[in-house]
Amino acid sequence: MYARVVVDVPVVETDRPFDYKISSALLPFIQVGSRVSVPFGARKLQGFVIGIAPASEVKKTRDILDVLDIEPPLTEEMVYLARKISERYMCTYYAALQSMIPAVLRSSYEKQVSLLPGTEIYAAILPEERAFYEYIRNRQPVSWGKLLKEFPLAGQWIKEGMENGRLAVEQVVGDRVTKKTITVLTPAVPPEDLERFREAMPKSATRQKEILSHFLHYYGPISQPELLSLLRISHQTVKGLVDKGILHREEVENYRDPYAGRTFKAAPKHPFTPQQQTVIEGIAEGMSPPAYFPCLIHGVTGSGKTEVYLEIMERTIARGRETILLVPEISLTPQMVERFKGRFGNQVAVLHSRLSQGERYDEWRRIHRGEVKIAIGARSAIFAPFRNLGLIILDEEHEGSYKQEETPRYHARTVAQYRGLYHKAVVLFGSATPSMETYNEATRGKIAFFKMTDRVKNRPLPKVNVVDMREELRAGNRTMFSKTLMDGINERLARKEQMVMFLNRRGFSTFVMCRSCGFVVQCPHCDISLTYHKSNRTLRCHYCGFTEREPEICPECGSEHIRFFGTGTQKVEEELARYFPGIRVIRMDVDTTSRKGAHERLLQDFREGKGDVLLGTQMIAKGLDFPNVTLVGVLAADSMLNLPDFRAAERTFQLVTQVGGRAGRHEKEGEVILQTYNTEHYSIQFASRHDYESFFLEEIQQRRDKNYPPFCRLVLFTFAHESVPLLIKMAEKFARQLREVIPPGAFLLGPVASPIARIKDRYRFQCMIKYKNDPHVLPSIQRIVRAFDEERKKAGMMLAVDVDPQMMM
Ligand code: ADP
Ligand code: ZN
Ligand code: ZN
Repeated sequence: MYARVVVDVPVVETDRPFDYKISSALLPFIQVGSRVSVPFGARKLQGFVIGIAPASEVKKTRDILDVLDIEPPLTEEMVYLARKISERYMCTYYAALQSMIPAVLRSSYEKQVSLLPGTEIYAAILPEERAFYEYIRNRQPVSWGKLLKEFPLAGQWIKEGMENGRLAVEQVVGDRVTKKTITVLTPAVPPEDLERFREAMPKSATRQKEILSHFLHYYGPISQPELLSLLRISHQTVKGLVDKGILHREEVENYRDPYAGRTFKAAPKHPFTPQQQTVIEGIAEGMSPPAYFPCLIHGVTGSGKTEVYLEIMERTIARGRETILLVPEISLTPQMVERFKGRFGNQVAVLHSRLSQGERYDEWRRIHRGEVKIAIGARSAIFAPFRNLGLIILDEEHEGSYKQEETPRYHARTVAQYRGLYHKAVVLFGSATPSMETYNEATRGKIAFFKMTDRVKNRPLPKVNVVDMREELRAGNRTMFSKTLMDGINERLARKEQMVMFLNRRGFSTFVMCRSCGFVVQCPHCDISLTYHKSNRTLRCHYCGFTEREPEICPECGSEHIRFFGTGTQKVEEELARYFPGIRVIRMDVDTTSRKGAHERLLQDFREGKGDVLLGTQMIAKGLDFPNVTLVGVLAADSMLNLPDFRAAERTFQLVTQVGGRAGRHEKEGEVILQTYNTEHYSIQFASRHDYESFFLEEIQQRRDKNYPPFCRLVLFTFAHESVPLLIKMAEKFARQLREVIPPGAFLLGPVASPIARIKDRYRFQCMIKYKNDPHVLPSIQRIVRAFDEERKKAGMMLAVDVDPQMMM
């Protein structure tokens, strides 16, 4: 048998499968989706089996050296998916395959074989096989490679041994065990023998006798640590009995459940509102008989979308099918998970970045083995290895974080569509502020369209007060709080209600400026202002991490009036304390939440009323639901409006709407105060009136006029190199080649300096292709990129190709 293997070589010329022979030892373990190690030139490389090669087509081959996993980590569907992704997002096939497996599996590791308890090794019939079992028993755990070397038939025997419960194979990464195990002791002989051994022991062996007495009392397994502490004995004592063959010792897998020890209460089910009912019936119709059914729920915050998700998930499970629920990383709060665990209990696996790699791997394996029905996670959970997917939900589908900003630069929305088509599944996009792309498709009937216009129980949407900060300045108010906001805060403090204060981006405009000459301290490598960190009086660059001490005098003019300026979350916290003595502020930003669990703890504190104000960045903009919050302050609503990005208006609208959605979700009425220097801007105006549709109509007109997505598609190329002349020369050469292949009606813009002109000492140039959806464009661009690859590499130039970019920086 021969396998088609995609090998880990970073050059594009070799981005194709190679054929390798499968030795009979490995045959039982190799399938499409297996990871293998293969010889490649003089090297040994990792690869994925993407197919079986017909012998007639195979020319010269070498043998596969080893298989890396007992079970193939990828399904056939995922192998197919990887090819689609590599074509669509112009990455190598290997990169796409690799991105679908958990990070711990990306490093190499070893497999160890050992006997399972109770294995009667003399059951083996062939003397060679018996020798194989004895070999394992005497040395266990034994490395996989060693067994294959010693016994020509080891592959087959291991496979059989695993199937009939005699052998266990465990995977070890470096010195870290990827699976958490506990050591368990069980008697290896019948109770009568235990008794006999105890009687035959010398008097001095009191400790060992105690152990035997224990097992005579409780004839069954016990964890070694438990036994040691119970009898106050040492490892050595236990080892003596294990060596004599009286006790059996083994490592038993113990899943690390990050939610262990918590109980989840099922929230009561409410009767559905008429709007919920309509949506549920519409989707239910779309899923029987099973069909690819893409749809959008446009529902205002608090309209009960999540309840709809829960119901559709339940119906999916009832049909024996599985669900992936994607949520933005920052919405993946314990509170959010609780709602799903409360309903579905341990049928839910959760994948998020705050888990350790080992924990993530455990959750992934529960999915891989079909032990759960639901996977909840951020972007990469779209690759949850389910085999019978019935439903994929993208909550907050407009979120930019669904696009991966490194290779492979896939959008989870697109991958969801691929998987939905493959499995004939429902693909459900939900949002209060859908992306222009998705909403456009919905209005044009390309995907099913459901609307939920009312909040549950007709709670009103919060009143939004737009405050013009230019007026405040004219009136002599130099603080960061408008008069309206000050009054609002005082009122809430008097009524003992809670508030959320939102500031866009950590340290946005917390730069150091000279009041005498206007000099602003910038990163010497990235051309952006450094951010001031008060705790250790340093300035830090948020792109490259460059750090320096706060200057005492201005490097330009020597003035002493140089100090930090603007509003970071720390600064707001200080100002709040200054104007509202005694106010209790809980600050949530990257600085206060870097420790594991800190995020959760701060939210819990706020929920318990230990703070009057929850102050934070993007992190608090969504997903949080606090009954006592009646005021949301947006301190600089337009700070996103001026970014060099055609989506700036859309992002501002989304942000304002989302933040506003935090207020008044419960019995108490809520108010939003929006401070801005751009009161007239349509995104601010429509957001303040909760008018998505008008915003959409205005914005779609702008997109049409200026020819931006969804009216065209984009590919962004970013070049980076230390030398500007070389960079320009090569970028221009590349652009010329591109111009020759793009069809009439497509444009190439640039090359020009990127908005962030330098990162980590590398200058950056970019160019962009705008084209109508034409299936020939990407393949011809791909050919140019590949042809250019060698020259580019030789010159040491970096090139990032971003198809359907979300970030234009
Ligand atoms: P969304 O996801 O659209 O923001 P949720 O599903 O979170 O909305 O619902 C908002 C609030 O209303 C939640 O507290 C939820 O428990 C409650 N809720 C949802 N549906 C109903 C219903 N049919 N009857 C009563 N309360 C409901
Ligand atoms: Zn100065
Ligand atoms: Zn920098």
